[in-house]
Amino acid sequence: MMKVPRHLFVPKVIESYAYHDCPQQIGEGQTISAPHMVGIMVEKLDLRSGHKVLEVGGGSGYHAAVVAEVVGKKGHVYSVEYIESLAKWGKENIKKCGLDDIVTIIQGDGSKGLLEYAPYDRIFVTCASPDVPPPLLEQLNDKGKLLIPTGGRHYQTLVYYEKRGKKIVKKDYGGCVFVPLRGKYGFRLFS
Ligand code: SAH
Repeated sequence: MMKVPRHLFVPKVIESYAYHDCPQQIGEGQTISAPHMVGIMVEKLDLRSGHKVLEVGGGSGYHAAVVAEVVGKKGHVYSVEYIESLAKWGKENIKKCGLDDIVTIIQGDGSKGLLEYAPYDRIFVTCASPDVPPPLLEQLNDKGKLLIPTGGRHYQTLVYYEKRGKKIVKKDYGGCVFVPLRGKYGFRLFS
């Protein structure tokens, strides 16, 4: 995390708050996760050099950049972002950090996963989902691991899934709050 300049991933006007341990507004009603949450998710995902990773909810590109520092040049991070303007901005931020050979940001509905580059060693979702979208489990490698906040619109549990052959191991990592997942497997209503 020390290698990624977080101030490059927040709007200029709040640059001085970039290193506070809290989420920050990034526009379009979305947020960049707090550093501690990024740290927890990177640790629980058990990332290794060379992993092919899928992120759902690219936002600023910050979380993808931190993951890129772990998987390195032998790995790759595919990050899907629903909102076009954020996908474009996230891409610019990744380029500024010189990580564009490791991170690919794609605009689309990540609730359906990203079949084009599947299967993935690791998948993580940075928005709240009513439940785990079936395509994400399908697009996970055997022995692959997935992290996703599931539950209600305003409060969720960070849930871990590990694929072991036909078996799925599930663990709960406690309460969290994320912005809602949109798209096919996301929340229907927005207020
Ligand atoms: N990981 C981001 C956090 C962004 S907040 C960061 O480091 O900045 C979650 C993001 O998920 C928002 O940008 C939101 O637009 C996006 N999102 C919501 N539903 C989505 C979907 N179905 N597919 C892809 N992205 C989605």
